Amino acid sequence: MLEQTLPGERSPAAGVYDVAVIGAGVVGCAIARLLSHHVLRCVLVEAGPDVGTGTSKANTAIWHTGFDAAPGTLEARLLRRSYPQMATYMAETGVAVERLGGLLLAWNDDQMQALPAIQARAQENGVTDVYPLPPPEICAREPHLQPGVLGGLCVPGESILCPFTLPLALATEAVVNGVTLLCNWPVQGIDRLPNADFRLRSGERTLQARYVVNAAGLYADSIEQMLGYRRFTVTPRRGELIIFDKAARRLVNHVLLPVPTAITKGVLISPTIYGNVLLGPTAEDIHDKQDRATTAAGLAAVWDKGRALLPALIEEEVTAVYAGLRAATEHKDYQILAHPDERYICVGGIRSTGVSASLGIADYVRDLLADARLTLPPKPDWQRVQMPYLGETGTRPYQSAQRIAANPDYGRMVCFCERVSLGELLDACHSPIPARTLDGLRRRTRALQGRCQGFNCQAALSALLARETGQTVAALLGLEAGCEQ
Ligand SMILES: Cc1cc2nc3c(=O)[nH]c(=O)nc-3n(C[C@H](O)[C@H](O)[C@H](O)COP(=O)(O)OP(=O)(O)OC[C@H]3O[C@@H](n4cnc5c(N)ncnc54)[C@H](O)[C@@H]3O)c2cc1C
Repeated sequence: MLEQTLPGERSPAAGVYDVAVIGAGVVGCAIARLLSHHVLRCVLVEAGPDVGTGTSKANTAIWHTGFDAAPGTLEARLLRRSYPQMATYMAETGVAVERLGGLLLAWNDDQMQALPAIQARAQENGVTDVYPLPPPEICAREPHLQPGVLGGLCVPGESILCPFTLPLALATEAVVNGVTLLCNWPVQGIDRLPNADFRLRSGERTLQARYVVNAAGLYADSIEQMLGYRRFTVTPRRGELIIFDKAARRLVNHVLLPVPTAITKGVLISPTIYGNVLLGPTAEDIHDKQDRATTAAGLAAVWDKGRALLPALIEEEVTAVYAGLRAATEHKDYQILAHPDERYICVGGIRSTGVSASLGIADYVRDLLADARLTLPPKPDWQRVQMPYLGETGTRPYQSAQRIAANPDYGRMVCFCERVSLGELLDACHSPIPARTLDGLRRRTRALQGRCQGFNCQAALSALLARETGQTVAALLGLEAGCEQ
């Protein structure tokens, strides 16, 4: 069990937490980090072996402005609240970002007719810099597009970010500032105690908290039911994606967005901050919350869309495919529901935009906790953290003669595809929230996610991780069984 406590922090059994946040996805991590700014005893409880292993690691990694959100919804408001905070936060902590801008493209008359309304909607949402682009300008900016685009909108604020570093940065700041992180701790039951506190149960283990925040993503409805509510049902909406090799990066300069429909933002083409190109996702409602498998039909559908938009992309090598599950509900908006008298906040239904809205959601939840009479004394000695930079536009350790001179391990490559050095891998194994699985090592360093998908380096990485964490290689590989890569 990964359990992080600060020196002087009591073990969970020894006392009552002020707040228990259930779920260490990007949303739960953002909430826990914000609460760590206050003199409180907080615990972040996660079913998986690490933070950020749910939907937060399998998405399209677009930093949305919220230009096309339904005006007046909580989602639209929190996206706007989040956007400037995200800009500051990611710059200060070293989360990789590329401010590419988005082009929303119309390929038929119906889509052309939708553009003015989308621009008006952006204005209403406070995204005031969206402007129309004529076809020659679009083609000049994106010379590899299929001929025939009729028009489009430029959305300068749409950008790309590192979806792996963001939750890790948030959780690391929470932990460094006193939040207890309990991984491998699936909440299986919740009791109300006579004094109105909550007792969270996981097997034989229990912990007690005065307030509960439910940020359990796909399982937010199960947590609701443990507390006697049935206000929404989460239906996983699967999105399948294809990642193209870095050679394809030259083909795309912006985030290429389709005109959205009622149920999905549609299939997009976007560079990633690792230098690849991403095509997808699909949007298919399924029943099984564990089913993150890709399908031949889903991949064929995105492939066809890709060919129709950017034919040259389809000639490029594919590095990987994956699927993520959106926490869709029967409601069209986020389900952030507060029960001040019950000291319970539900943060459910964060379906398509939760990465981008995470800091705004956290702010809002803190306000709701204050309304529920949680006292929030400021913590005077709060510490910021600096995360390893995983992008392509800044300087990585292998590119820094100064870092290599100071520590030659930063010059010893282990993953050649992604240029990940021994020094970075060791850092990841000994960081405040250390990597304990190969997937955890991947999300902290980029190792294993390159062109060879670990064919060359997985044995070395397994041996290194086993040595540094005191696990056996067999146990490590067993831990990874069934884990999405
Ligand atoms: C295909 C796809 C593309 C997307 N693209 C984008 C995008 O480009 N930009 C964007 O902003 N958003 C995007 N999203 C949405 C975004 O990924 C989600 O909104 C966000 O990750 C939700 O975060 P979360 O913390 O609510 O959920 P999760 O990341 O799923 O975290 C919930 C956590 O709760 C834990 N948990 C569940 N049950 C329990 C329990 N009983 N006890 C303890 N822990 C529990 C889980 O293990 C999990 O770690 C996309 C989503 C998908 C699927």
